[in-house]
Amino acid sequence: MGENPCFTYWTVECKTKDCGLLVLALIGPCRMGRIPFLEQCEDFELTCKTCSRVHLYTQMDVSWKDLDQAPPRGYKGAPEFLAATQMEPRQGCEGQ
Ligand SMILES: [Zn+2]
Repeated sequence: MGENPCFTYWTVECKTKDCGLLVLALIGPCRMGRIPFLEQCEDFELTCKTCSRVHLYTQMDVSWKDLDQAPPRGYKGAPEFLAATQMEPRQGCEGQ
């Protein structure tokens, strides 16, 4: 039926008021009803591409969101976040 892509991402809200959402990394294709769990995450600093400010984020700031946008080819996520969580970078776009 629907052709809308659906992917789950780790995200944080930029700490600049009303700035927006920062996408940190791809979790994977949407798994309905499955709630991803962030096992560990050290504090990390991230530069916002929209407001160009650097903010400090903690594990408490990180949440997951389903977005109807597929990751660009070769998408790996924010290096700062991957380092803080010691996650392996994940390739996006399987089945392409
Ligand atoms: Zn911002």
